[in-house]
Amino acid sequence: MGTHDAAADIVVRGGSIHTFDAHDTVTDALALRDGRIVASGRAAAALSATRVIELDGRTVLPGINDAHLHAAWLGARWPHLFFGDAGPGHSPEGRLVATEADRRAALTRAWRLLASLGITSYTEPGIGPGEDDGETGCFGQAMLDTYVTLHRAGAQTARVTLLRLFGHLDGEAELEDVRRGVASPVPATDPCWLNIAGVKIFADGIPPMRSAWVREPYLDGTTGALLTRGSDPVEAFRGMIAAALDAGCQIAVHATGDRSIDEFVSALESHGPAASGIPGGHYVVHADLVDAELLARMAQAGVGIAAQPVIADHTGAWMEPVLGASRTAAAWPLRRMIDTGVRTTITSDAPIATPDWRVTIDAALRMLGEDTPQVRRDLLHRVTTVPAAQDAAAQWKGTLTPGMAADLVVLDEDPTRPGRPVAGIGVAGTVVGGRVVFERGETPESE
Ligand SMILES: [Zn+2]
Repeated sequence: MGTHDAAADIVVRGGSIHTFDAHDTVTDALALRDGRIVASGRAAAALSATRVIELDGRTVLPGINDAHLHAAWLGARWPHLFFGDAGPGHSPEGRLVATEADRRAALTRAWRLLASLGITSYTEPGIGPGEDDGETGCFGQAMLDTYVTLHRAGAQTARVTLLRLFGHLDGEAELEDVRRGVASPVPATDPCWLNIAGVKIFADGIPPMRSAWVREPYLDGTTGALLTRGSDPVEAFRGMIAAALDAGCQIAVHATGDRSIDEFVSALESHGPAASGIPGGHYVVHADLVDAELLARMAQAGVGIAAQPVIADHTGAWMEPVLGASRTAAAWPLRRMIDTGVRTTITSDAPIATPDWRVTIDAALRMLGEDTPQVRRDLLHRVTTVPAAQDAAAQWKGTLTPGMAADLVVLDEDPTRPGRPVAGIGVAGTVVGGRVVFERGETPESE
């Protein structure tokens, strides 16, 4: 049947389709047309289609959205990761990309990898002029320009939210650079595919290096400090927040210490509606040492968290010698983040950890110490609908109901069923904007 005769481009049918709508409805068929879902259930199954994907009992989830993933860096380093490196030979060092061809190759490699994992959206957290002289070449303005070029060429197989960076990655930033940067124009793009609406600010470092800014000193008596520079670090940090809000930017702050998280939340609280009215809201990246009092204030102020369960898994042992056992045990309070109602996304921070969300979900299940369908569904929302809200895009992506973007992943088994590692579940296919961007060789399907 030709494209023009069919009512749908693709009908997906014959399995459990988790829509992740407000009632967590499960349906058995979806019809896709022009990049969107046009029908579900019996109405979808009845439509003629150019292509039918027979699920054969497989499971469909909304496409995975990794709310904190350095795709350019991942593509340049792959298959090498910092944690759980499985790549052959030595971990790459120094300059990873130098030319436009290198940059395109890095992004294209990352996109192929992400498609094979079912990842249909991600946040690229920090690219811009602050890193023009950066060691790897992965984070400078040239990489942002490459993003825009590939975007305009229609080459993307994942939707991207890109945070601009006006200081150094994991390093210092000058107030004046951030002020000038957030006020500088953003390239024209289709925000459904490349949304450049936010800014990344590094408040501090990480606890194992004693560079997280903490209220109570480390065992050696130091406290870490802010990375923001101006007349005074605190004034510089507040000035950056104010300038970003003035420019209408979503703000993501790398903050791991309780004192830096407090400073960020206080700054947002002091701006009131000017801060809370920005689409997608603001959030803390990592939040290792967040406590109950801060979480309550964050829930109140609508400040989210992008959390990394695999990093938590790996760094606990490094944290203990500098913070002591009890503070280490209290770090990354995922259960409390969830119960307090803080908008918490579950993310990889690849290439620090694997971009494989299945491994990340398993790590989160271990952190929570429970395994029920409800807990699994809740965690899976944190890689689909919750990051869609962080992207200010929940009205058009993240759930599988008519009118929404046709972004989905086909899995061999149902990941909401307890008792089996999610990492053991195969990804059979990935659809982004109604287009099949990955299909495993043996996926059963018919024309
Ligand atoms: Zn990161």
